[in-house]
Amino acid sequence: MTRFLAGLLLLLIPSLPALVAAQDVERDPLTALWAQDLRLAQVAERIMAANAPLCRQTMPLSGAILHSADQYGRPPEGWFVNGPVAVAQVLPGSPASEAGLRAGDALLAVGQVRVENVSVRPGYPLRDAVFDLVAASSDDLSLRVSRTGQEHRVEFTAPRGCRALVEVLADNGNTARSDGRVIQLSYAFVARLDDAGLAVAFAHELAHAVLEHRRRLGEAGVAQGLGREFGRSRRLSHQAEVEADRLSVHLLANAGYDPAIAPAFWRSAIGGESDSGIFRSRIYPAREERIRLLEEEIAVHVSGSPLPSAAPHLLAGRDGPFSDGWFSDPVPR
Ligand SMILES: [Zn+2]
Repeated sequence: MTRFLAGLLLLLIPSLPALVAAQDVERDPLTALWAQDLRLAQVAERIMAANAPLCRQTMPLSGAILHSADQYGRPPEGWFVNGPVAVAQVLPGSPASEAGLRAGDALLAVGQVRVENVSVRPGYPLRDAVFDLVAASSDDLSLRVSRTGQEHRVEFTAPRGCRALVEVLADNGNTARSDGRVIQLSYAFVARLDDAGLAVAFAHELAHAVLEHRRRLGEAGVAQGLGREFGRSRRLSHQAEVEADRLSVHLLANAGYDPAIAPAFWRSAIGGESDSGIFRSRIYPAREERIRLLEEEIAVHVSGSPLPSAAPHLLAGRDGPFSDGWFSDPVPR
């Protein structure tokens, strides 16, 4: 429902046994996954709320994480008895929590729109369509919910934040990605990061969304997938990574984090591993280069500047053509 309707993408439930085997520690994979989903949601909510003025797409941040029956191969018994979309978790202290929304509540309507009338995009779960509905709502949310078969209305006002569907994927890889609509981090990656590392990874992905990179790279004709590893696509994709790194320290500072956690992450063991693992594509700056540009951005544009930072030197590019050389950073080796 709301806010951050972040959600557990349990659609990968069939992969959970593999996840358990690999981790060899989690007795209850769903509990483990949800714990990380809640951690990510808390960090993400803080950063999305603080940076709402920088985002052209915003949404009410309710603090409720939704899921739908169609995300599961076989949903655990009793989860969706009152409706196909339910609250998976509620962030402690969030508007949804204060309003009395509880995990397990089925969501029947958002404003005047009943869930059964929502059209679902082929290939996407109902959860996504209901997320869109909540995201498009005013900050005064009016939800119709069912708990143990009793229907009632829950109304509350939520703060605005950057719009993104945030979720932890049931996945063993070290993955963080953003497509402009959804920000996904893999379970294995999130589980290994402390909260500072999580904030750094999330801020980088949110920066892509704020800078509308998916749209801009598409308009510039940049190839997706393997094609972006070559030629002009590679240069522009690299530039997008540099921009996202630079903006990430503003997003962190605006949310009350010390932006120095970003270069510190890349100096850390997991950052070093990420350099050869998750971020091994040649479109990413090399590790030392990332550290250098993050520290330069902090020194020149964050330290000693008033907060919140609107990062105008970075956001100014959102409406122009995505062209080479906007930044002078060298193309990676
Ligand atoms: Zn990136």
